[in-house]
Amino acid sequence: MHTIRKRMRDAQRAFPLAQCGRCGGELYEGAAVWYLDGRRLCEDCTAAWLLEEFSACRFCCGEVRG
Ligand SMILES: [Zn+2]
Repeated sequence: MHTIRKRMRDAQRAFPLAQCGRCGGELYEGAAVWYLDGRRLCEDCTAAWLLEEFSACRFCCGEVRG
């Protein structure tokens, strides 16, 4: 048996630097983070937050003629 050295750091051993203010997911170094509405959000929650914020602009296709 011999040792195989890893070239990339094992993400499972990485220590989270912060948590998402919406889902509570762990945020690691280098991860994309948005500060919206006074909270730190992960990428998935940012997309969901934006869709909720712009929900007043949401219509079904064919419902409004522009
Ligand atoms: Zn999140």
